[in-house]
Amino acid sequence: MKALKLLSDKTISLVEIDEPIIKDKEILINLGSCGICGSDIRNVFADSCKPTSKLGHEITGTIVKVGKSFNGKKYEGKRVFVNHHAPCNGCHYCIHGNKTMCEKFTDNIFPCGISEKIILSEWIVNNQSIFELPDSISFEEGSMIEPLACCIRGWKKISFVKGDSVLIFGIGPIGILHAMLAKIYGASTIYCIDINQNRVDFCKKMNLGICINGRISEIDSLFDLNDRFSPDLIIIATSDMSVLNKSVDLIRKGGTILIFGEPEKEIKVNVDINKIYSKEVKIKTTYAATNEEIHEALVMITHMDIDVNKIITHRYSISESKDAFKKVHDRKDVIKAIIINK
Ligand SMILES: [Zn+2]
Ligand SMILES: [Zn+2]
Repeated sequence: MKALKLLSDKTISLVEIDEPIIKDKEILINLGSCGICGSDIRNVFADSCKPTSKLGHEITGTIVKVGKSFNGKKYEGKRVFVNHHAPCNGCHYCIHGNKTMCEKFTDNIFPCGISEKIILSEWIVNNQSIFELPDSISFEEGSMIEPLACCIRGWKKISFVKGDSVLIFGIGPIGILHAMLAKIYGASTIYCIDINQNRVDFCKKMNLGICINGRISEIDSLFDLNDRFSPDLIIIATSDMSVLNKSVDLIRKGGTILIFGEPEKEIKVNVDINKIYSKEVKIKTTYAATNEEIHEALVMITHMDIDVNKIITHRYSISESKDAFKKVHDRKDVIKAIIINK
């Protein structure tokens, strides 16, 4: 079977590997689809590489085999979404609500998300990280559950009041999901800022709020000097942390800045700490999603509260996945690309 592998020289290669053999408490799925995430792109193209060489984690598929301990075949043929990691729910981090910091919260699928077949480990199975997909949800829609869940987790970390204004830096698929959530949660005004004109145009077409090219327009002029009109919440949905300074300037007194995009490793930003202090700015970060948020995202997509189809612009087969990575990295007309096991 085919699987996409990140090699030590940071090139990606579609390799032919033996079909995995499952243990008694494991499940084997046939890949339905897997989204390409910004973190996958960074793993391949950025200098700072996470320790993982696994590509793809926004996974859906069909159960094709279950281990002996499941006695019976009732699981086979079920369409599922898989959360690729799960916390222990009992450690110091978990009981303090920092479940995504749990030491057990590591990748638990094999060989990776962009693979014709995938083993779901005993840990994933025991922690109920496998969600049956309703018939109304396609595999590719299912692949949007994880990114949406991560956004939902971010929103849980902030104090948002209906009618608040939201500014989003970076309107790729994640920024767009945040803008869609902002609408649902009742934001008064949503500002979508990007330096990529394609993305600005895309958001304009989606009617997501005030969409501006941050390279062309002076963002400051949007806001009256009166603090009352400054955004209550700024979401940084880009890995470009140079916007942090701007965010500290723009945010209203007492407002929140959510760092959502993953900064490159060891990146340093010069910020005016006095301004953060005197404006009582709250800076929050968020990482990944737990099964609670996965469940919420699944419900939102099922009820079409959020139509993720609007974001999926490109679909590729596993054989085309190398090319897909290049296209996503180029950021021309791709918003969200999904690998589909045709
Ligand atoms: Zn992701
Ligand atoms: Zn834990």
